[in-house]
Amino acid sequence: MKRVIIVGGGYAGANLARALDKVAEVCVVEARDHFVHNVAAIRSVVDPSLLPQIVIPYDRLLRRGRVRQGLVTSVSDGGVTLANGETIEGDAVIVATGSSYARPFKPAWHFAQAFTDSMKDAHAGLLETDRVAIVGGGAVGVELAGEIAAAHPRKRVTLISGAPTLMPGYPEKLAHSLEAQLRAKGVALHFDTRVANLESTEYPYLGTLACMPDTSGEQLIFPALGARPVTAVFQQMPNARFNPQGRVKVDAWLRPARAQRVFAFGDAAATGDPMTIVAITRQVPWLVKVVAAMLDGQSVESQPTYLPWSSRGILVPLGPRDGASVLPVTRNGVLVGKCPTALIKGRDLFIPRYRKDFGYSGQFA
Ligand SMILES: Cc1cc2nc3c(=O)[nH]c(=O)nc-3n(C[C@H](O)[C@H](O)[C@H](O)COP(=O)(O)OP(=O)(O)OC[C@H]3O[C@@H](n4cnc5c(N)ncnc54)[C@H](O)[C@@H]3O)c2cc1C
Repeated sequence: MKRVIIVGGGYAGANLARALDKVAEVCVVEARDHFVHNVAAIRSVVDPSLLPQIVIPYDRLLRRGRVRQGLVTSVSDGGVTLANGETIEGDAVIVATGSSYARPFKPAWHFAQAFTDSMKDAHAGLLETDRVAIVGGGAVGVELAGEIAAAHPRKRVTLISGAPTLMPGYPEKLAHSLEAQLRAKGVALHFDTRVANLESTEYPYLGTLACMPDTSGEQLIFPALGARPVTAVFQQMPNARFNPQGRVKVDAWLRPARAQRVFAFGDAAATGDPMTIVAITRQVPWLVKVVAAMLDGQSVESQPTYLPWSSRGILVPLGPRDGASVLPVTRNGVLVGKCPTALIKGRDLFIPRYRKDFGYSGQFA
């Protein structure tokens, strides 16, 4: 059986590994000791009882293939090299090294315990303060404002964005709906405002913000300034190029750096999609077909090229009951409101689905 190496077992790598497990001998190399379902990390700030459900072992992900812990330092058409010097050979290498985000929203280190510790610290900090400032008006900042306002209606929550609206890059109608709902929850919104004196862009801290007269005085400040692609393995490839976001550029078949049998997708690659799991749901079935055809002896170039979503879909709950979403089902996307958003994502944040995918249905790890 042909051997496929997948670098990174996040949303992209894990989903692809499950799909390819039937057609190839799959080896996922993942730096972390557990999968962290970061979609539910935002609500975990207000409800850390979710933590045991969203940190999931890798041992039941694959039936035939395996997930092994290790840090890949370089990739080539023939395989990968790990930080300990070990090499693994493969017929195809697929890189999904993803992105990093400020604590506590994604693990900063390879041990899940460090993630849960930083989440518990953020929760404790939240309970001790009655004022919260969130810097960043993208999906994470907006969701966090909604979760805190829903769970702690008496806390003063301020969201500060350098952009003129919430959710830059997404349709205005989504931004307007979320803005109205946040204001109704008592969240103060400040647009076109640059925060000059952020003490950290990496973790929440108790401090002051010079830019806002009404936010002077100490408050819990959450930086939520966006995802940063993790592309160290591509830096080793002489022909690798990067887009302004720092994602590695790929050809029409999602191959970086003029490689023939190395593919890249998910947050790390400039696929034409935004950095979302919604995007990955389109990339995985396409990759399965192309990689299976390649392993079967067909040329990659004879396969259809990858076409990104024509509209940007996203689901943005504001607590378990509210929120708004854009479904990428038409060219401009379809805006839906509170009920569909709650039904699709807000109620359970896909936790049962991911636990099931990882073989831990109904049980805590
Ligand atoms: C708080 C939060 C909530 C979000 N909610 C949503 C949502 O509701 N819907 C949505 O569509 N998107 C959401 N996103 C975005 C979504 O999380 C990303 O699009 C997604 O994580 C990308 O998946 P990925 O597999 O490409 O990268 P990641 O999930 O970042 O996974 C990459 C993996 O690669 C591993 N890795 C990196 N380098 C190496 C290496 N050299 N060797 C071995 N392993 C390596 C990492 O340890 C990691 O496990 C959210 C993001 C955040 C931060």
